[in-house]
Amino acid sequence: MKIWDIIIVGGGPIGIACGLEAKKKGLSYIILEKGCIVNSLYNYPLNMQFFSSSEKLEIDEIPFISIEAKPKRNEALEYYRRIVTSNHLNISLFEKVNSISKIDGHFNIVSDKNTYTSTNVIIATGFYDIPNRMNVPGEDLKKVSHYYKDPHFYSSQKVAVIGASNSAIDAALECYRKGADVSLIIRGPEVGQRVKYWVRPDIINRIEEGSIKVFYNSTVKEIKEDEIILNSPSGTTSLMNDYVLALTGYMPNFEFLEKIGIQLSADEKRLPQYDPETMETNIDNLYLAGVICGGMETHKWFIENSRIHAHMIMDDIVKKNKSVNSYQDK
Ligand SMILES: Cc1cc2nc3c(=O)[nH]c(=O)nc-3n(C[C@H](O)[C@H](O)[C@H](O)COP(=O)(O)OP(=O)(O)OC[C@H]3O[C@@H](n4cnc5c(N)ncnc54)[C@H](O)[C@@H]3O)c2cc1C
Repeated sequence: MKIWDIIIVGGGPIGIACGLEAKKKGLSYIILEKGCIVNSLYNYPLNMQFFSSSEKLEIDEIPFISIEAKPKRNEALEYYRRIVTSNHLNISLFEKVNSISKIDGHFNIVSDKNTYTSTNVIIATGFYDIPNRMNVPGEDLKKVSHYYKDPHFYSSQKVAVIGASNSAIDAALECYRKGADVSLIIRGPEVGQRVKYWVRPDIINRIEEGSIKVFYNSTVKEIKEDEIILNSPSGTTSLMNDYVLALTGYMPNFEFLEKIGIQLSADEKRLPQYDPETMETNIDNLYLAGVICGGMETHKWFIENSRIHAHMIMDDIVKKNKSVNSYQDK
């Protein structure tokens, strides 16, 4: 059976950066991706604009050319796809990894299509697959979504947008501009401070002029077919409602990490354990890369500051390989 030097789980920007770096170092590798190339980005809102400028999203110093300084989702799809295809990266798409275990010093990786053996594993599975649920009655109704794609669908509808961060604010503004009657429900006292600096004044002005209704310090109590019930400072409030966009953030797949044996902090941050110099976890030769490293603090890592993980990991793997080879040479 072939023993791979590295199996990379996840074909997002950082998994791709790891594949590119492994190829440059002459290591055998395969990226296993459960969806399409950069699956998370593919599932972002259609009109999404990054808060980072394009050069900050570049991997391996391959130029990312975008029309505006801050690229749009479709430009990012072009960029990362071209990196994969032009560099002939070894990637298997629509292949989901279900389990990883270590047997006799090697990893056994089981996907829904195949079984692999490798010396090293990199987990770069991001955080976009599991929404933070509100855990309220009615959350599973068909009219409730934790993902937002496009505003046209919501035109002339009463839409409640839950959340105060970029995803919620972008969705509220887009839906309002396509003729939806938008109510924004915010748990805290204000629009999030991390909202893109050129978008924040826009939403605040729309709220102040009354174009978008806002309920600060409010949470959802229950969702019904034609209404949504809030706990607000003035008591229980009911709004007529057609659709709910619950854009309350996402979290990494902690169950997957725990099953592998990666230690998580006991507090609410659930930070995975890894060496910040090498990205190696508490399991030898098993590394984490990309936004998954932040646990519940999903705003801590992004492409800009985590693309470096690919170099750190590959340097460590090469260093270990050298010491094994020089030991065997003696
Ligand atoms: C709306 C939004 C806007 C953002 N804007 C910016 C920005 O402007 N600048 C910035 O730097 N960052 C931004 N980020 C953060 C960053 O873009 C993303 O989090 C980025 O995708 C992280 O890259 P990643 O490779 O670590 O994870 P991901 O891109 O999430 O990739 C993980 C991949 O793993 C795959 N996967 C998961 N589980 C499995 C499995 N079991 N088997 C196989 N494959 C699996 C997924 O399908 C996915 O393709 C934004 C995030 C969001 C949500």
